[in-house]
Amino acid sequence: MQQLGNFQLTTISGGQFVIDGGTMFGVVPKTMWSRLFPADDHNNILQETNCVLVQTGDQNILIDTGYGSKLAPKLRKIFAAAEGDPLLKNLNAAGLDADDIDLVILSHLHFDHAGGATRIDENGELVPTFPNARYIAQRREWMYATAGLPELRGAYPQENLLPLAEHQVIDFIDGDVEIVPGIRSLVTGGHTYHHMAIVIESGDEGAVYLGDLCPTSRHLPTLWGIAYDLDVLQLRRKKPEVLGMIADRGWWALWDHDPDHAAGKLVRDDRRDFAMSDGVKAL
Ligand SMILES: [Zn+2]
Repeated sequence: MQQLGNFQLTTISGGQFVIDGGTMFGVVPKTMWSRLFPADDHNNILQETNCVLVQTGDQNILIDTGYGSKLAPKLRKIFAAAEGDPLLKNLNAAGLDADDIDLVILSHLHFDHAGGATRIDENGELVPTFPNARYIAQRREWMYATAGLPELRGAYPQENLLPLAEHQVIDFIDGDVEIVPGIRSLVTGGHTYHHMAIVIESGDEGAVYLGDLCPTSRHLPTLWGIAYDLDVLQLRRKKPEVLGMIADRGWWALWDHDPDHAAGKLVRDDRRDFAMSDGVKAL
């Protein structure tokens, strides 16, 4: 747990997975990324889903939900995904139940971020995982994700999303807004067209959940993106802007997929644009 002004931040893993290293590094040659992220015999690298619990004193807020408990067996095997419900297991380990979450903020709606938003209950029904929570997403990300585009079927399984609308627990935001006092959205685009980072400020301290704008501490160079990024040039414009804000203000960067560091401070760096000065395994 890390104190941030009056807030408490805790990393809640939504489960580890493995993925082909090339997909996480797009056009970056393997000779470069594999020095930072060693690949196994199948070219896979280990990734985390570092969700963040923000306890404001008034509310328990969860940022992103990992891949959840509904992955089909074949996908579970491909990703070497955790059995059961890793998000709830790790939330319990932090002393909270699903009932205790008041608000869930989704950076974007890909399956490894929104999968844990819903679950299958004892009656075989798809239900929101957090029965007392409101859920927040960018309206245009939701429209894109639920538009039924066949080319996005794998990225946005509808079982993660539609139950939130059916149970009327999803609230939409448009652009950069204060979600609750001290927590605001910062739309970055890039990874998806309406992807957002989450800015958390309390007292004179700050942290930014970067989502897939910069998924690990190894993705700091401006030109290093993920093969799935939809708008590569937007990512290259926005990433140095957001990382620069974090570095110049002495804030925390929160990494969603880094298996070794859930958070770190940043400094500007001539060679790699930015470098991490103070990595933390988990908050
Ligand atoms: Zn992701």
